[in-house]
Amino acid sequence: MTAEILSVGTEILLGDILNTNARFLSEELAKLGVNVYWQTVVGDNRGRLLAAYGLAFERGADLVIATGGLGPTEDDLTKETAAEYFGRKLVLHEESWERMLAHFRGRQMPPNNKKQAMLPEGAAVLANNNGTAPGCALERDGKMIVLLPGPPNEMEPMFLESVLPLLRPRTDHVLFSRTLKIVGVGESQAEILLKLLMDRQTNPTMALYAKTSEVWLRLTAAAPDEAAAKELIKPAAGEARRILGGSVYGEDGDTLAGAVVGLLRQRGLTIALAESCTGGALTSALVDVPGASEALLEGLVTYSNRAKAELLGVRAETLEKFGAVSEQTAREMAEGVRRASGASIGAATTGIAGPGGGTPEKPVGLVYITVSTDGKTEARECLFAGNRRKIRDRAVVTALDMVRKAAAGYSCST
Ligand code: ATP
Repeated sequence: MTAEILSVGTEILLGDILNTNARFLSEELAKLGVNVYWQTVVGDNRGRLLAAYGLAFERGADLVIATGGLGPTEDDLTKETAAEYFGRKLVLHEESWERMLAHFRGRQMPPNNKKQAMLPEGAAVLANNNGTAPGCALERDGKMIVLLPGPPNEMEPMFLESVLPLLRPRTDHVLFSRTLKIVGVGESQAEILLKLLMDRQTNPTMALYAKTSEVWLRLTAAAPDEAAAKELIKPAAGEARRILGGSVYGEDGDTLAGAVVGLLRQRGLTIALAESCTGGALTSALVDVPGASEALLEGLVTYSNRAKAELLGVRAETLEKFGAVSEQTAREMAEGVRRASGASIGAATTGIAGPGGGTPEKPVGLVYITVSTDGKTEARECLFAGNRRKIRDRAVVTALDMVRKAAAGYSCST
């Protein structure tokens, strides 16, 4: 089954509102295994609305789901044009009319509201439990138009309560996706590593998505039901995990910080952080995870040289000879916070987030990240691209990834 989404409303075309209805419907239809090849936005205009229905069916849609323009005013034309397109008259739907009267009980109903109870002859009426405009579904020669109200709080429940049961018997498969979350490997590198596997796969299909400092691999299978789709995904996901090794930190709703806290707790490890350029963002990422208190002992923002020296014991000679942004200082920061807190792991960041402060030797984006464990301290020299915000975000992700590796007992310097 192929559907086209038709978002009706001049407000959307003018950029006054965001088209969240199209996103919701696309997501729901994908889960149902319905193909969506086109989304259209059209204003409240009779000629263009008629053309939009025509175009959608001409280019292969079996179903058009239109949202918006079901209201009582003259410029609400979605229903009128759908009826015209299918050659139907509008007739009063008694039940909807009764519902509207009940809705307005005790208040004056504007006369033009009756327009909302006028529905295409022969249409299946979809009750609106959250507003006044009913939706409807009309069919002709195996083609279907579903009309839903514009406000998301009316449209979404109507879709879930009334449209899903209508569509389910007409689709013979569901789509199910699983996302592997990857860190420490760029999108193009991941593509090279996975190319053979991805080329071989047809069901599930595989697609890579670049996120800030992460890459997601989405595997999508089509099958008669969700259990069968999961079975199809299992071997392909296993193969991808084998190829990507420790770069896969989790799946679906997992977060990198969540994976780090989970691992620390599982291994009975504690952590303390000394942050310079990340300014507490690393600590904050861990604190976002429920249960972080079992692993996180402290996070110090040691921005000045004095703080680095007094709170972490970074030596004056180190700061003088190598500077605050140096591997040596970063090493002493991680070792210092570990020693002072008694944590199993100490981690530190120091760098130049910009936009000022860079030099040819130490450019903006240069960040040293260190992780100190029992007996060894590992360091990474990173050169991050982007603005101040991006550089700091990337430093946080890299530090989390290094801690994750160290907690798992691997080297984290590369
Ligand atoms: P009503 O019965 O309330 O008159 P309607 O079906 O006529 O609704 P519109 O008048 O087109 O719908 O839109 C009403 C409101 O619904 C808009 O002001 C907007 O807030 C929201 N809305 C409409 N279309 C969308 C969309 N595609 N995405 C998100 N919100 C939307």
